[in-house]
Amino acid sequence: MPELPEVETVCRSLAPFIVGKRVSECLIGEKKLIKSSTAEEFRKKIIGRSFNNVQRRGKYILLLLDDGETLVVHLRMTGKLLISLKDEPVNKHTHVRFSFEDCEQELRYEDIRKFGILYLGDEAKLAQLKGLVNLGYEPLSEEFTTEVLKEILHSSNKKIKAVLLDQTKIAGIGNIYADEILFQAKIHPESIAKNITDEEVIKALHFAIQDRLREGIKYGGSSIKDYVNSFGEAGSFQKLHKVYAKAGERCVECGGILDKMTSAGRSSTYCPNCQIKY
Ligand SMILES: [Zn+2]
Repeated sequence: MPELPEVETVCRSLAPFIVGKRVSECLIGEKKLIKSSTAEEFRKKIIGRSFNNVQRRGKYILLLLDDGETLVVHLRMTGKLLISLKDEPVNKHTHVRFSFEDCEQELRYEDIRKFGILYLGDEAKLAQLKGLVNLGYEPLSEEFTTEVLKEILHSSNKKIKAVLLDQTKIAGIGNIYADEILFQAKIHPESIAKNITDEEVIKALHFAIQDRLREGIKYGGSSIKDYVNSFGEAGSFQKLHKVYAKAGERCVECGGILDKMTSAGRSSTYCPNCQIKY
């Protein structure tokens, strides 16, 4: 599933293409992907609108329109927003197509599993999109300080892995980056959040969160299965993963064997030697 660095990469690849473009047609094959209204209402509303800006919030892509409304896209498991030539063959996983005035290229929404969402509305309508409005801190923002992280940890009896994955606490982290963050911070995934009280450890965790996410963005995200940016290009951060999906391999720090466990309902890979349980 695309996480913050992948979604940020999609936004950055999409912005130079889409900003200023006016929608001339919108073809919707898979109607259930449209969550804000009927597919036909969505189509009528989006035709004639142009895109003013592209923003990201957590794992949500926000395409700001010239009438003040926003087209929200969440890629979930296998969604992709791809810039294609209009005459490029359409594959069976292409479910929504946006064409633009005076433009040979179009924007296609592809999704193998069809779990993604497209949601169009004004501020009041967006307020009904619970996953979006309930998002927690943006981890690369100035507001997300060590003090904020300390408070998040202090107020939770849950395992640290679950806290990192909780979008209402910190937005945008998924399983890949959670494993990489905990390895860098030398914290065992089953540690209880409120037991992490040492200032130095909290600082290390705060640093690891920002550092791993920034590195992920720098390398264009992690392409494990499906993920590509809007030009169809894969990211390369997966080559720099140290633990994710590497159970049974040697730890790059201590040479021990990496272990795997199910934690917070998700698979976690970690080093039993390097990562301390609090
Ligand atoms: Zn180790």
